Amino acid sequence: MEIHVQLCTKSKMFCGCAVEFGAEPNSRVCPVCLGMPGVLPVMNKQAYEYSVLTALALDCGIATFTKWDRKSYYYPDLPKNYQISQYDLPLGESGSIEIPIGSGRTKKIRIIRAHLEEDAGKNLHTTGNFSQVDLNRTGTPLLEIVTEPDMNSGAEVRALAVELQRMVRFLGVSDADMQKGHMRFEPNINLAITKDGAEYRTSIVEIKNLNSFRALERSVNYEQQRQLGEFLETGKVMKTGSKTTRGWDDEREVTVLQREKEEAHDYRYFPEPDLVPVELTHQWLEEIRSNLCELPLKRQMRYVEQYKLSDYDAGVLTADRSTADFFEQVVQAGGEPKRVCNMLAQTGLKMANEKGCGVGDLGVGAQNVARLAAMVEADTVSAGSAATIFEAMIETDTDPQVLAEKLNLVQKSDAGELDAVVEQVLADNPQAVADVTAGGKKSKKARGFLLGQVMQKTKGSANPKVVSEILAGKLN
Ligand SMILES: [Zn+2]
Repeated sequence: MEIHVQLCTKSKMFCGCAVEFGAEPNSRVCPVCLGMPGVLPVMNKQAYEYSVLTALALDCGIATFTKWDRKSYYYPDLPKNYQISQYDLPLGESGSIEIPIGSGRTKKIRIIRAHLEEDAGKNLHTTGNFSQVDLNRTGTPLLEIVTEPDMNSGAEVRALAVELQRMVRFLGVSDADMQKGHMRFEPNINLAITKDGAEYRTSIVEIKNLNSFRALERSVNYEQQRQLGEFLETGKVMKTGSKTTRGWDDEREVTVLQREKEEAHDYRYFPEPDLVPVELTHQWLEEIRSNLCELPLKRQMRYVEQYKLSDYDAGVLTADRSTADFFEQVVQAGGEPKRVCNMLAQTGLKMANEKGCGVGDLGVGAQNVARLAAMVEADTVSAGSAATIFEAMIETDTDPQVLAEKLNLVQKSDAGELDAVVEQVLADNPQAVADVTAGGKKSKKARGFLLGQVMQKTKGSANPKVVSEILAGKLN
C-alpha cells in the first residue's frame, strides 16, 4: 500500500502560501509553488517535524541526513514539471504498525519507508469542452508511507487505513479528513496461487487515488476476484517488472484499466539544487520524540485491560484523542469507567458532532461528568435523565446535582412516599391486579402496565427499581 497523508501545516512545503481547502481557485499561489524560473524554495520545518514524528510512531529508523530530489514528469497540474521529493534517502525506513483484526487481536504490518514530498495541483473536468486547473494544492506537504505486502484482504487493508488515520490524528500531524482528500490510498494487488503443486503469481495491479475506506476495501476485494477469474480463464501470470494501473469506478463498483506499464517509470531523479540537505541533530530528534504520545491502538487495548471495557467500547473512546483524553480525565475524577463510557459514547459524542468539536471541547468539566456518573450509579437520576442533565451542563457547566433538582429529574427512591402512589394505582386498576395474580401470559404485561402507571403519576421521577420492589411486595 502507498498512502499519502496531507500534513496540517499552516503553509506549504517550500513557500509561504496558505494551505487552505475550498479557497478561490488559484488564489493561494506564488512564484515558488508555480515553479517560476529563478525562485528559491525554503523547507517548511514544521512539515519535517510532523513527518519525523509520524515515522517515529511507525517505529521507523530515522535518517539523520536527507536530501531533496527532483522527480521529473510532465502533467498539467504540475507547473514545475517536477515534484520535489525524497528518493534514495527517505526520512524513515523499516518500521511497522499494528492493526486490529477483530476480537482484540492485532497484526503487524511492516513499513518499507516514509518520505516527504509536495502535492500537485488539481485538474477539473467539470464543464464544457475543456479542462481547468486549480493550483492551490500545489506544494502542499505530503507524507508518503509505503508498506510491505503484508495484508491479505480488503478488510485488512481497510483496518490499516483506519488505524493510520487514527494515529496521525492522535499525533496531531494531519486532520486526515477523507472528504478533503487529506488521505489517499493506492493499493498494489496480486495473487499467489497454488495449483497442481506449482505456484503462480498474477500481475501487480495498482489502483490509483482512492479516498474513502469503503472504496478502498471494495476495490481490493473486487480486484482479488477479478485477478482470480482472469487467471482461471487465461492462465496469464506475471511478467517480471510488469504492472498495470487501474481506476475504481465507484458507481459500477469495478476497476477499469488505465495504463499498462511494462517497466518502472523513468523519473530522471536528481538532487534538487535549490535546497540544502537536512541534517537532523540528536537534540532536534529528541525534541520531536518528546511529542510522541501513547498510540491509539495501545490505548484501546489498555482500556480493555485496565478498565474492563469491551473492545468495542474501547474502540469508540479511542477513535479520537479528544474523547480518549477526556474519558481519562473523568475516570481520574472518580467516574466509573463503563458508566462514563456510556455517557460519552451516547450523549457526549452526539453533542460534539452537532457542535463540530471534540468531546473535550464541549465546555463541560471532567469533575461534573464524574459527579453525574456517580449520581446514575447511586440511582439518584436515571440514565435517560443523565443525558438531559449532560446537555444542560454543556450550556452552563453547573453541578449536576443542582441541575437535576432544577430540572426536576431527581429520582424518588423514598419507599414511604412511593408506597402511597403504588396503593393508589393498584386501587385504580383492579383488572390489571387480577391479571397479575392469575399468573400466566398476561401477568408480565400487567405488571409492566402497573409500573408504567406509577411512573406516569410521578412524572417519571420515581426510581423504577424501587417501584418494582414495592409492587412485587404487594402483589405476591
Ligand atoms: Zn506558494
